[in-house]
Amino acid sequence: MSNNKRAGVLLVVSGPSGAGKGTVCTALRKIREDLKLSISVTTRQPRNGEVDGVHYFFKTVEEFAAMRDAGEFLEWAEVYGNFYGTPISFVKKTLEEGSDMLLEIDIQGALNVKKLIPEAVLVFIVPPSIEILHKRLAARGTETPEALALRCASATAELDYMEHYDYLVINDELDRATEDVAMILASEARRVSRNTHAYKMLLEGKEL
Ligand code: ADP
Ligand code: 5GP
Repeated sequence: MSNNKRAGVLLVVSGPSGAGKGTVCTALRKIREDLKLSISVTTRQPRNGEVDGVHYFFKTVEEFAAMRDAGEFLEWAEVYGNFYGTPISFVKKTLEEGSDMLLEIDIQGALNVKKLIPEAVLVFIVPPSIEILHKRLAARGTETPEALALRCASATAELDYMEHYDYLVINDELDRATEDVAMILASEARRVSRNTHAYKMLLEGKEL
């Protein structure tokens, strides 16, 4: 076990609905159990099987507005007609501890995080084609026909934001896409700027 205390990586994953963000992030957390996941607050209704405090913190619009007005969010956005926000306290605490952390948030949220925290690493997940994205979303079967149409219609416009991201991952094969994100995380952890402590330790004659 290394004694080297490096700065944690804030990994922000986004992409069009149905690209596979949730699936890739779940697979990533299985191979990187140390990775902390930020649980968002949302005003969306829970889907079948979604658990309050595990998948999201489910709140009313009034509760969400009170949290927002009290400055409890690092970022928040209205996405596909519902509000979503990242609680600031857990992100702050985790990064201060030097742990790596994962945010799975929409594009507006990702760009806002990058403005506030320029060292954040932005990963954009895309499907192999728009046709496959539509098929995956329909097969997931979690949306009403109206919600499905809105998510499909938004996908092409969302691709325009790719240029603001640091990395692109194509989610064709789940295992390979997951491995890509794991490699990005590992490379970012090795950045000299996140390992300045190592320099001091070596100069002091300590072992890393
Ligand atoms: P997002 O979180 O981006 O909205 P999901 O992770 O819910 O997307 O994935 C959308 C649907 O596509 C889910 O039903 C999921 O099981 C499926 N899916 C995700 N990744 C793949 C993949 N690589 N190959 C086939 N199906 C996938
Ligand atoms: P879903 O309703 O499918 O769970 O999520 C819809 C969209 O909201 C996804 O793009 C998801 O990444 C995004 N999202 C989830 N949590 C947050 C959050 O805290 N902030 C922002 N900006 N987007 C979020």
